[in-house]
Amino acid sequence: MSLPPAICLDIGEVLIDETRVWSTWADVLGIPRFTLMGAIGGAIARGGDHRDAFALLGVDGWAAREPEVQAVYAGFRSEDLYPDALPAVAALRASGRRVAVIGNQPARRREELLALGLDVDVVAMSEELGVEKPDPAFFTAVTERLGEPDPAAIAYVGDRVDNDVRPAAAAGMTAVWLRRGPWGVLGEDVSGAATLVVGSLSDLAALAVPGAAPPSG
Ligand SMILES: [Mg+2]
Repeated sequence: MSLPPAICLDIGEVLIDETRVWSTWADVLGIPRFTLMGAIGGAIARGGDHRDAFALLGVDGWAAREPEVQAVYAGFRSEDLYPDALPAVAALRASGRRVAVIGNQPARRREELLALGLDVDVVAMSEELGVEKPDPAFFTAVTERLGEPDPAAIAYVGDRVDNDVRPAAAAGMTAVWLRRGPWGVLGEDVSGAATLVVGSLSDLAALAVPGAAPPSG
């Protein structure tokens, strides 16, 4: 398939490897990292919210520890970027496509991403938009921020079937499922909403080269 002229990338587990933030949560709460990561996977596999892991582990009042976690985490760092993130963005833009980065994140992540060298056409965080995935209004906001009224001209690339793939397809976009991170590995696209399934952003960028074959597997 050929990619549409505008590509909107999710952030967590698409551009950013969230290992460090969940390691920070484990450290602050005094839970072994392996235990928390495993419990998060279990919560996702049960079809629940990943934060159900805290209840599973008997952690009360975890939400109140958020400021402490964020202070230790101290925002995105270069080491949090998946190695293919910036090269894939550059390749997609070099192919003449417009690239946006819009995901469910606090507003301050915008400046953090720009400081890591992210060079795209549009950057917006859900907090500044006032709406989060999977709300259909989020995907309307994507079309508005890209200045592209036709959703069919946009591919939304995300790791989650529930938050990214299904609502993007419902909005009329090309839904690209990036199967990395726990949601990407454990999820099932039972409704077949994904137009395209890739294992990395490198695979996606390879499709931007004219005459490229689709990724195998
Ligand atoms: Mg994500």
